[in-house]
Amino acid sequence: MKTVIYSTTSKDIEKAAEIISRGGLVAFPTETVYGLGADAMNSKAVADVYKAKGRPSDNPMIVHVSDSSDLDKLTGSITNDMKRLMDELWPGPLTMVVPKGESVPMRTTGGLDTVAVRMPANEVALKLIAMSGCPIAAPSANLSGKPSPTRADDVIADMDGRIQGIIRGEDCKVGIESTVVDMTGETPVILRPGIITAQKIEAVLGKKVIYDSALFKKAEDEGFKPRSPGMKYKHYAPEADMVIVSGQRTNVESEIERIREDKEREGLKVGVILFEENGFDEAAHDLFADLRDMDKAGVDLIIAGALDTDDQWGFAVMNRMVRSAGYNIVKV
Ligand code: AMP
Ligand code: MG
Repeated sequence: MKTVIYSTTSKDIEKAAEIISRGGLVAFPTETVYGLGADAMNSKAVADVYKAKGRPSDNPMIVHVSDSSDLDKLTGSITNDMKRLMDELWPGPLTMVVPKGESVPMRTTGGLDTVAVRMPANEVALKLIAMSGCPIAAPSANLSGKPSPTRADDVIADMDGRIQGIIRGEDCKVGIESTVVDMTGETPVILRPGIITAQKIEAVLGKKVIYDSALFKKAEDEGFKPRSPGMKYKHYAPEADMVIVSGQRTNVESEIERIREDKEREGLKVGVILFEENGFDEAAHDLFADLRDMDKAGVDLIIAGALDTDDQWGFAVMNRMVRSAGYNIVKV
């Protein structure tokens, strides 16, 4: 298949939208990561997304809308809490899991009776959705298992020849995926952490928000049963081996140097990822791009410093980092 690269002019977005409305696949920028979009109401198109990514078919997709009123097509029950979150935090990196309306295909929701919905804060994405005339199902535009793409070139590297189009937009501002919050019960439950924190949601709703306990377990732990099916799978993994060093900063720095020297003596090419101790927005922005750059540079081993998980953004980035490293963590 020939993949056409589109610019972000209205004319090009219009062409890309036409592909989507005819059942084709187009990757596009959002503020979180690049998405791989298809008409969410078209079962065949959604099946093609799973195929293009090599994604397990029980891992549901987030459905993207450009207007809150689009939600009427996707769910029959919009609560006051949902309305408040939409008013305050959309467009933005917050995905809500809500009861599924009948017209949403089971393929889109991976067989679940709930659907995940979000309005992205990116002009290109919003235009694409509006011009397509349908809600757009879009997982991250990477091959399943690889780090999410935050730059158009990363999408091209994974998806060229597999989909009809890619919109070449800017690098993604946030860099990690949206917060996923389950709104189907009385108490909202965070299924995937992101830069919209539990505190922020609590402040909007004036009630307690809890975390899915699976967020604090390893995939191989007994009783690991995440409510977000995607969390079962190998995720965000670079080609290189990866280890995370956790502990007090000075100890972490010297342990990273020790491992580096050791491995370089063995002839391995080593890459280091060590973010600043505060302001984890930069860590969010850079993590996936750094992993991909290290793979491109032919690094054999990536050594990363752990982030402070008491910080909500540090917690969100670490949620990805530990999976990238396959839970390979050394404590110093
Ligand atoms: P991605 O498309 O790669 O950003 O991943 C989407 C995430 O949202 C995955 O981890 C899914 O498991 C999760 N998700 C999507 N729909 C639902 C749903 N209905 N219930 C729970 N989690 C969902
Ligand atoms: Mg993904």
